[in-house]
Amino acid sequence: MATKVNLHNLHCFSEHDKLVTLNRLAVTNPDLMPHQVAVATGCDLNEAMQVLMLLYDMHLAEAYTLVYHTTHSDGPPAEVLRAEISAGLPSFPLRCPLCQEEINSSDEVTYGFLFVLSQGIQFVAETEESTTWGEQ
Ligand SMILES: [Zn+2]
Repeated sequence: MATKVNLHNLHCFSEHDKLVTLNRLAVTNPDLMPHQVAVATGCDLNEAMQVLMLLYDMHLAEAYTLVYHTTHSDGPPAEVLRAEISAGLPSFPLRCPLCQEEINSSDEVTYGFLFVLSQGIQFVAETEESTTWGEQ
């Protein structure tokens, strides 16, 4: 039985199609990043982050801060570290596992956020009058 998450306060998801897309995304991708949600649904990054932080607050997802080393000239940035979001931003120096270089400041990294869903979720947008949207 999926846990219902009510998004009626988020303007973006008052559109039925976006809610359906979000539900589909959550079923196929238990690992979600804010930009992934934004791209898939057409909502802005801020709204996507709000959805994911809501899941974290409701204990429906684990949340992680990702640290990437940005100074790699070829290929995508390397993931240096993954830490629980509650631990805050990591302190320097860090060592990049890919190039073995020591990273001494935030100028050399970018941050990302990853949310790992821990159970089945059904997003709905129900007002007081209880409209049942977002069915699979
Ligand atoms: Zn590196």
